[in-house]
Amino acid sequence: MQHIKDALSTFHALCLGMILFALVTVVFKLIPTYAYYFIVQSTFISFVIAIFLSIYFNKSKLFVLLLFPLFFTLCLAFPNTLFTKLSVPAFWHIAPLITALGYLLVYALQERGLFSSFGIFRTSIGLVILGIGYAGLKYFSPALQKALDTPILHVTLQGLSKASDFILIISIIALGFIFLISMLFEAQSQKAPFWMLLAQIIPLLFLQESNHFILFSFVASIIAISALVHDAYRMAYADTLTGIPSRRALEERFLHLGSHYMIAMVDIDFFKKFNDKFGHDIGDDVLKLVAKELTYVKNGGKAYRYGGEEFTILFSGKKKEDCIMALEEVREHIFRRGFIIRDKNRPEKAPKEMQKSTDVKKERLSVSIGVAMSAKGKTPQEIIKLADDALYKAKESGRNCLICL
Ligand code: GH3
Ligand code: MG
Ligand code: MG
Repeated sequence: MQHIKDALSTFHALCLGMILFALVTVVFKLIPTYAYYFIVQSTFISFVIAIFLSIYFNKSKLFVLLLFPLFFTLCLAFPNTLFTKLSVPAFWHIAPLITALGYLLVYALQERGLFSSFGIFRTSIGLVILGIGYAGLKYFSPALQKALDTPILHVTLQGLSKASDFILIISIIALGFIFLISMLFEAQSQKAPFWMLLAQIIPLLFLQESNHFILFSFVASIIAISALVHDAYRMAYADTLTGIPSRRALEERFLHLGSHYMIAMVDIDFFKKFNDKFGHDIGDDVLKLVAKELTYVKNGGKAYRYGGEEFTILFSGKKKEDCIMALEEVREHIFRRGFIIRDKNRPEKAPKEMQKSTDVKKERLSVSIGVAMSAKGKTPQEIIKLADDALYKAKESGRNCLICL
């Protein structure tokens, strides 16, 4: 259930939702023609914001990738300013081709910031590709069109898109490549290009209508903004090591907390031994594992990394007994699970017979928990202190236990 919830709340669901929404409005003609005037204005405003944010957060990939839909939107919005006469077949051949090729090449380069030689190199590549696109639009010839329209696919697959087979194939390659590479990254600004490209390919290959392209460009710019904002939010509120919300997020939560809540301070027992015996990296792995287990706490508890090997779990508006039951369940689970130290030369994937294997050692792992309930006239910080006192008592009582004050 947790996984389904996570999946639904992800950035991917948001992007997919926006693209589907745009598609539905287009297919069912829900937007009157006059409204597109406002969409064009909004698109430009949105691009200005997206480009400003990409510069501000030093994201060269998004910055350059945003230039593509912006350029082609400008071509459609001001055809007579940029060209003596923009030919319709030229646009629907050159725009998808340059977009797919541009995304493929620009995305393949590693993110190393905008204000670096690498960033300048990426921007130059993007501008060169766009320059080729501009020349392609300006000097488009029937011969080039014929060459691009040469059938490649099996006859049954032809007509899959309004664009030529060659453009369809390049677009699919670019989408697939970006999708696969983006899976290696956590940051949404690395995942956004897949959705941005998809948002452009739909109108470029399948709809081929100027207004629709501008609408989908608008969606692409919103996707970029969402990714940048999401990453900034994560940077501020997520703990970099474990990925769970940080102490700052907890303090933020305190600002709008009701009067009935419960705070649990969780501390890993004898954690220092993991660092001393196995090294800091294994210590970090233990922290990640405990953090992950704590996120599974039931009864609506939310886990935060308070600092070091200490975590906080916050329950809001829940019955004391239910919270204690949920906490005891995670504590026991962590203890039963232990921590498996595998040999340094271990294979990437754990063997099925891991428990029996000789290069595997199970280390004891447990947590102590101190719990305190909210009280009239006391601030959450004071309740945390009380929970800390309870935690101290849990340590004194032999650890791997829960004490509630
Ligand atoms: P106790 O059962 O009394 O809690 O003992 P303990 O060893 O868990 O507690 P102690 O406070 O003595 O040690 C905590 C250690 O946690 C010391 C510090 O080096 C380590 N630590 C803090 N943050 C990190 C981190 O981010 N990564 C790693 N690997 N170690 C950390
Ligand atoms: Mg501690
Ligand atoms: Mg400890």
